[in-house]
Amino acid sequence: MAPTIYVASTNPGKLLDFSVAAGALGERGAITILALPGIAAILQAPEDEETFEGNARAKAIYYSHFLPGELMLADDSGLEVDALNGHPGVRSARYALDSGAPTRDGESVDQANNNFLLKEMAGIPAPQRSARYRCVLALARNGECFATGEGAVNGQILAEPIGTGGFGYDPLFFLPALGKTMAQIDLDTKHRLSHRGRAFRALLHQAQGKLS
Ligand code: IMP
Repeated sequence: MAPTIYVASTNPGKLLDFSVAAGALGERGAITILALPGIAAILQAPEDEETFEGNARAKAIYYSHFLPGELMLADDSGLEVDALNGHPGVRSARYALDSGAPTRDGESVDQANNNFLLKEMAGIPAPQRSARYRCVLALARNGECFATGEGAVNGQILAEPIGTGGFGYDPLFFLPALGKTMAQIDLDTKHRLSHRGRAFRALLHQAQGKLS
């Protein structure tokens, strides 16, 4: 029977990325991707490890206890900017908040993070605006993590946002090979080259034979 993988995330952008990634593997046997039911009501797993892998493993193990016997996928991902010594890194989701940056009325968390990043990078010239997205995925069942996968994609941080797709830092993350930001590419292209798509393929490779 085709396996179902539950995802420990409420982020619709991530869920969509995983669904596209799983769909693209159709010829190897379809994988169904579902959000962990009731995740919004579950006390959030702490994300206080210093590495993406540490956080992904801890989250997968924690949430797997809520669905005994099922496959639980968790991820940790973020943006590493070279000129900022790898920041925001594991703190990408809370970058503006943790830095105490004032929020403007009606601003989303993503907008606040993007505005704060632009402020931190003001005056840094284009050749020094290199960055990468990194993602580590972990798969657990019954409190045991049995596979991980890692992926990265390199790009440049623009001085202003372009595009409306994706989420998070996507409108600022420019892919030189395509001449577009991550917020301008279609989902299939994103799956092919994104850190999450790459991590998903690496994870499935490691989990081969252990998914049923
Ligand atoms: P976490 O993995 O839920 O801890 O959050 C990672 C954070 O990194 C997100 O909230 C985004 O701000 C950023 N991030 C990670 N992956 C992506 C991506 O594919 N596009 C845009 N932003 C991302």
